[in-house]
Amino acid sequence: METKKVIETLNEKETALLGESMGKAAHPGSIYTLVGDLGVGKTVFTQGFARGLGIKEHVNSPTFTIMQVYEEGRLPFYHFDVYRIGDVEEMEEIGYEDCFYGEGVCLIEWANRIEEILPGHCVRIIMEKNLEKGFDYRKITIEGKWQ
Ligand code: ADP
Ligand code: MG
Repeated sequence: METKKVIETLNEKETALLGESMGKAAHPGSIYTLVGDLGVGKTVFTQGFARGLGIKEHVNSPTFTIMQVYEEGRLPFYHFDVYRIGDVEEMEEIGYEDCFYGEGVCLIEWANRIEEILPGHCVRIIMEKNLEKGFDYRKITIEGKWQ
């Protein structure tokens, strides 16, 4: 069943905790896409998510690569940040299909930049600010099947 849920967070910790609870619930083969402006909290969410999978290593945005894999958690975790991607061919070069259609969990920051190769079963997470509600307010919309 497709579901849509809106969660509002008021600080970084709440966003990380949301990520953590979703990481705990993640199943093999699931893909989470994160969309939202620079500085909205995609990496904060991802860090919590990784913790939820049992990853102790600190997760940062991959700077020189599109994808970073973490093997120490409950499931292999493929963290993509495609902010700097020029063309989806770069995804093919790194063999993204083995990640997307494997037994691990994928999370993709800036997923809107590779829309054409995203499978239909992704859990879509949209993060937005609303300065009228405060500097640290975030509206997080989750669409799809995630638990
Ligand atoms: P992105 O990966 O989307 O570019 P980051 O996760 O790297 O963004 O950074 C988000 C920034 O916003 C951090 O400095 C964090 O402390 C701050 N922040 C403030 N309020 C929140 C919130 N409610 N949720 C997430 N991050 C927040
Ligand atoms: Mg980021």
